[in-house]
Amino acid sequence: MRVRARVEGTVQGVGFRPYVYRLAGELGCSGHVFNDARGVVVEVEAESAEVERFLARLPAEAPPLARVERVVTEPVPATGASGFTIVESAAGGEPSALVSPDTATCAECLEELFDPTDRRYRYPFVNCTNCGPRFTIVRGVPYDRQLTTMAGFRMCAACQAEYDDPADRRFHAEPNACPACGPRVRLLGTDTADAVRAAAEALQAGAILAVKGLGGYHLACRADDERAVAVLRGRKHREDKPFALMAPNLVAARGLVELGTEEETLLVARERPIVLARRRRGARVASAVAPRSPDLGVMLPYSPLHHLLLADVGMPLVLTSGNVSDEPIAYRDEDAVGQLAGIADGFLVHDRPIQTRTDDSVVRAVAGRSLMLRRSRGYVPAGIDLPVAAQRHVLACGAELKNTFCLAKGMRAWVGHHIGDLSNYETLRSFTEGVEHFERLFAVAPEVVAHDLHPDYLSTRFALEHDGVELVGVQHHHAHLAACLAEHGQTGPAVGAIYDGTGYGTDGTVWGGELLRGGLDSFERVGALHPVRMPGGEAAIRQPWRMACAWLVAADAAPPPTLRDRSGWDQVAELARTGVASPLTTSVGRLFDAVAALCGVRDEVNYEGQAAIELEAACDPAEKGAYPLGPDLDARELVGAVVADLGHGVEVGVVAARFHNALAAATAEACMRAGEGSVVLAGGVFANRRLLERTRALLERSGLRVLVPERLPPGDGGISYGQAAVAAARTR
Ligand code: ZN
Ligand code: ZN
Ligand code: FE
Repeated sequence: MRVRARVEGTVQGVGFRPYVYRLAGELGCSGHVFNDARGVVVEVEAESAEVERFLARLPAEAPPLARVERVVTEPVPATGASGFTIVESAAGGEPSALVSPDTATCAECLEELFDPTDRRYRYPFVNCTNCGPRFTIVRGVPYDRQLTTMAGFRMCAACQAEYDDPADRRFHAEPNACPACGPRVRLLGTDTADAVRAAAEALQAGAILAVKGLGGYHLACRADDERAVAVLRGRKHREDKPFALMAPNLVAARGLVELGTEEETLLVARERPIVLARRRRGARVASAVAPRSPDLGVMLPYSPLHHLLLADVGMPLVLTSGNVSDEPIAYRDEDAVGQLAGIADGFLVHDRPIQTRTDDSVVRAVAGRSLMLRRSRGYVPAGIDLPVAAQRHVLACGAELKNTFCLAKGMRAWVGHHIGDLSNYETLRSFTEGVEHFERLFAVAPEVVAHDLHPDYLSTRFALEHDGVELVGVQHHHAHLAACLAEHGQTGPAVGAIYDGTGYGTDGTVWGGELLRGGLDSFERVGALHPVRMPGGEAAIRQPWRMACAWLVAADAAPPPTLRDRSGWDQVAELARTGVASPLTTSVGRLFDAVAALCGVRDEVNYEGQAAIELEAACDPAEKGAYPLGPDLDARELVGAVVADLGHGVEVGVVAARFHNALAAATAEACMRAGEGSVVLAGGVFANRRLLERTRALLERSGLRVLVPERLPPGDGGISYGQAAVAAARTR
């Protein structure tokens, strides 16, 4: 019998056709396989038992990077022809999901890398169909070497033979390379033959090196070297924000942080994100790596260059983004040397260009699930389904901070790499170039453009510049709600507690502590945190003590002496009373700021969310008490109780815990009263593990279904996908 099977999912550029070729050969089937616009088409012919065996094994034994979503079969007339062939793809047609994410070096390539008898021994660019660079080197589609940054390297005869052999692991591996024909690594200013070894020696001796990676340049130094880390912090002008670490292997990672099963799974996953985990007591890490943070961000090597470097150094390294202060990570060779010259003592570089700047992704494990904090390298550009089809092509422009964009057509959405804060020319350029790049990669020509309601977001202005498209404005917190519903395949209705720092409300005030009831197409605001002033507007975001002042004014409570004596206190209190230059806000993020400042944990911040992170870290885990806070979320009495406790000398850890417990209980109670079966917890505030775990537990105990962002960040990195989901629902 002869059967035609259409295979859909991520099945191109992942070694699927050679896999089919080998499977057919093993089972003695004849026929052919080819790629088309929708996936892979196979025809197999043999005795019916063999054909059935083939069809059973086809999805089950697919190569590691493939994701088979559907196999549809139909009988076709037997031809009697013998042999099995891979038919070259017909050109043209619509590309879809051809480009996969960058993937950590596979076990087979690693073995070659460290095998002195292998021709790729210590070759920092070893890769195969199952691993290696993808998204960061792609210039266009179809995914083919000529349209990657490998175009300038001509394969040697040995590499070409692997590339052409369907039985080889490197059949059609577009970045295939070896020491004879591929990219080379160099330690700038030296002509040493083993640049990686020389770099490792410099690092061991305490140097700070810029290291060109997959998606950009990193800055590296020994993690245990107090002087080197402090110098790096000074030169980068980065005050407190923790540096990420790279450990040589899992055993070394266990020496740095406490790892549960979930954390270890995330660490070794082929996406290789930075995993935030609790710092191990006695971990040999310089204090300047993560001042005041109980957690460390750790990742494992993900490119062969990292594997070599870490093996040679033999100890964990700081591996932080190569930039000054808040600028985006450097990725173009010509820019990087200039930008980082004042920071790095040396440069470990290579000659394979990076096409798209891509930061390391960051995840955290919460209650046995992963919580994505930054979704970029390793995950992008994998598609995420929508629960309703986008009948016209959609571009969603995202928010202002932690920006991402999103394209969608049909049931598919593609969320772009982390762009960052759209506040400067460099990030705006990354944004516009990224949008164009994705439009080409996924053949999306936007007919619907979704945007935030904030008129001054650069992403909103970009959206409004489009002519001849349907514009869909999406309220910020509705986008958070929709993003969480949609990634779980839901359309609502649900009630959402959406807590974040800032979002433009439909009434023109600053929202950020919202109870919304609704679904993808619409919502109503059924509750919110009691509004207070943000004295001096933006200044109150950088200076949490201003929010403490505003909450004390609202609660009619007296300030603790530490704050009252602060210069400017009286003027700020006056702003809070009169409302001059001080917009109203319902932001829970700002309430966290206020409580952190009252507790003396932090009265000014150096990075977004710092006060809340440090307040969470301060919590006494044993404390079970809670401040008074009802489901109306009027926190004035709570603030008064915080001040009273502090006045009576109650420990800050106890106060912080009582605050978290109160907010969790009130949030759960408010959600239950909304009377929906499903509850969404989203917004950047829910990156807070204690708040999220407690709120969720209370809701689940009452039998409610709790949805939490998992594949996308709870914060503004998920906004674009939510906007796309809303736009798809509204333009049906
Ligand atoms: Zn490999
Ligand atoms: Zn070669
Ligand atoms: Fe937000």
